[in-house]
Amino acid sequence: MKTRILLIYTGGTIGMARDYEAQSLKPLDFDNLLEHIPELKLIDSDIEYTSFSEPIDSSNMGPEHWIRLAQIIKVNYSQYDGFVILHGTDTMAYSASALSFMLNGLQKPVIFTGSQLPVGDLRTDAKENLITSIHFASLCENGVPLIHEVCVYFEYRLLRANRTTKINAENFDAFASPNYPDLGESGIRLDLRKDLLWKEDPSVEFSINTDLDVHMGLMKIFPGMSRIFIENQLNTPQMQVMIIEAFGSGNIFMYDWLDELLKKKANEGLIFVINTQCAGGMVEIGRYETSGIFREINAVNGFDLTTEASVAKTIHLLGQGLSNEEFRKAYETSLRGELTKV
Ligand code: ASP
Repeated sequence: MKTRILLIYTGGTIGMARDYEAQSLKPLDFDNLLEHIPELKLIDSDIEYTSFSEPIDSSNMGPEHWIRLAQIIKVNYSQYDGFVILHGTDTMAYSASALSFMLNGLQKPVIFTGSQLPVGDLRTDAKENLITSIHFASLCENGVPLIHEVCVYFEYRLLRANRTTKINAENFDAFASPNYPDLGESGIRLDLRKDLLWKEDPSVEFSINTDLDVHMGLMKIFPGMSRIFIENQLNTPQMQVMIIEAFGSGNIFMYDWLDELLKKKANEGLIFVINTQCAGGMVEIGRYETSGIFREINAVNGFDLTTEASVAKTIHLLGQGLSNEEFRKAYETSLRGELTKV
């Protein structure tokens, strides 16, 4: 029996056309996009389509769009074997990470893809990305989908969504998964690394969780950072979580005023999450003297989370109305394979 795939178009370069007058790229509507990919008719799956009413550049994507995507998947969940989401590359890793936390009990593939060049361009990467995403989403064994998680497919590589980060604004090879191996590769054959796939508990019924809360901040530190800037960031009204992108294994410059400020804000209930600004490797609070303060304020360890997964996980967990201790526990747990805890 043919697999049934739902293609969800949200916008992004993949579906853009050049506006030569304005000298910029603008989203095409869905019918226009499909005209450029007649190959879709040749694929041995039943493909149906749906689209955001107004396709957008993914820089305009936010939690309300993540909710819309989750709802589209929920409404269509029982009718399809897999879902392919066409999305701009700029914030794809954020949306894909968010969806990984918002979809519970997922037993089917949800694959995000896009392209660096518009579908109408002669050298476009859109067709390969789209067609192979559909192929990966269609992989079944005894009629059961093989992939049970949210992925990103780009330039011959299938990646776990909440491990991906956009690393290049020009190359076709635009995404990396610095701390988790690729889930699959497309060569002459499609190679799926079954041993690396996320195994969702089959007893959990599929549902979506759309409770999100954005009262958070993200602060990348740098040498010479001014006190006034840090104070202003940490005193942002209503903020409940501040992610600090620290140096190396979770280190920060040592100043008495900073220690006092961090302690004061932690006592007031602000949760600190510590991530590393390194592309690979993970946080180890207390390894150096320069991370001792984070131990003192009982900061949450972000281990090897990408920025994108860290932001999405924070917005998701903040929406669950957890106590600070429950938040820490959940944050430091791998909920969907997003972090490596040693
Ligand atoms: N600005 C575009 C977007 O993210 C870039 C892309 O699709 O690659 O929507």
